[in-house]
Amino acid sequence: MQTIQLHDKQFVPYIDAAAIEERIKLLAQQIDADYKQERPLFIGILNGSFLFAADLFRHLTIEAEISFIKLASYKGTSSTGNVITAIGLEEDLSNRHVVIIEDIIDTGKTLHSFMHELNNRAPKSIKIASFLTKPSALQFPITADYVGFEIPNKFVVGYGLDYDGLGRNIPSLYQLSE
Ligand code: 5GP
Ligand code: MG
Repeated sequence: MQTIQLHDKQFVPYIDAAAIEERIKLLAQQIDADYKQERPLFIGILNGSFLFAADLFRHLTIEAEISFIKLASYKGTSSTGNVITAIGLEEDLSNRHVVIIEDIIDTGKTLHSFMHELNNRAPKSIKIASFLTKPSALQFPITADYVGFEIPNKFVVGYGLDYDGLGRNIPSLYQLSE
């Protein structure tokens, strides 16, 4: 088995590029069917989702728009804890069908806090497309509507996901070696 090293850690092959492409084609067909006349706005969350967003979007055949944002967390008041805010979200979301594109939902904390900000902008609907979910790590009430793969609670890299900056350019998914 071909192990790779990033910084101080070893990773082993987990999901190959062909399987990823097949799965994303199916997700795109599903989204095509669900949003036929809706002209949805896709919002990709950088950095991790950039490859998934590109591949998913290129397989869509419906009319659709895409935009990218970064999420930044800052300290809120003691009652609100950390607040997540979107950088670069300039579109008017009122009356839009929005599909969030995320790389991975782990605890769900990031997206859960972002949903509040998103809801304030009164879109017609919000759905979530996540390349990966870790159901056994979930701690916040977030459900993805389109999921590439459900994976166990192990750290993965590749296909846009990094370990301390490295690994995003690996075309397949690797899992931290035990
Ligand atoms: P959450 O807020 O859902 O706990 O965390 C989501 C974020 O944590 C993801 O957007 C991603 O940046 C990071 N993350 C969670 N699990 C993994 C993983 O297995 N690999 C990598 N590379 N990042 C992860
Ligand atoms: Mg992320």
